[in-house]
Amino acid sequence: MLSVRNLTFGYGTERPVFAGVDLDIAPRSITVLIGPSGTGKTTLLRCLALLEKPQTGLIQLDDQAYAYPWPADRTFVPPWPHLTAVFQQLFLWPHLTLRENVLLPVRLKGTAHADEELDELVQAFDLGSFIDRYPNEASLGQRQRVALARALMLKPRYILLDEITSALDVEQVANILAYLKELRSRDIGIFLITHLLSFARHAADQVLFMADGSIVERGTSEILRAPQTERLGAFLSVIAAAS
Ligand code: ADP
Ligand code: MG
Repeated sequence: MLSVRNLTFGYGTERPVFAGVDLDIAPRSITVLIGPSGTGKTTLLRCLALLEKPQTGLIQLDDQAYAYPWPADRTFVPPWPHLTAVFQQLFLWPHLTLRENVLLPVRLKGTAHADEELDELVQAFDLGSFIDRYPNEASLGQRQRVALARALMLKPRYILLDEITSALDVEQVANILAYLKELRSRDIGIFLITHLLSFARHAADQVLFMADGSIVERGTSEILRAPQTERLGAFLSVIAAAS
């Protein structure tokens, strides 16, 4: 379980981006985080990925506890790739082909059978026609699928995904959705930020709505049909009007 209690984070001395956040991400589940732009979704994901040091709170990742404020003399043991994140910027190495991008982290880890595992992902995400190109020779949607494949090659127990379907067409999104459901059945905990409500409707075991510095509403995907707070209701109407 990835459990977060009373997490507060701010950049520098500004007021916190969010405060008092509690959430649980179980293995074998999909959690979808939605909310307006600039509300702190990416920042929260960076905290969950242990890339930021929150001011207060606790992050418990299976048997590993990270308590904040972090004592200056405590050694930080990173949880990667047990927990692996894919960011909007994707961070592909420009001087390596997409295939080399996917294989380099697993090779550094010394994993056997990497090539066969890559073949499986090439099939699943239909990467075959461009996997030997360089990142600048691939479309954003192609690079998004490659970045996801690179993360999955590391066999994480928890995977955190930030808006990685923004440039995918409907069919590709459906493909990724089906694959994430399969990962869930393989005991992986999935946390995903998206503006695609259909993703949340079709896959989420848990939906979190973040606004104004906290998780304002949470529940099953039913909250998208019948929001309990005015804030979520207003957000959903804006999205409905825009789509
Ligand atoms: P979202 O992902 O929901 O769009 P972000 O987490 O990216 O929101 O941003 C939340 C707030 O934190 C915004 O006001 C943003 O300007 C601010 N912010 C994001 N990154 C930084 C940073 N590195 N330094 C200072 N402020 C930041
Ligand atoms: Mg963001």
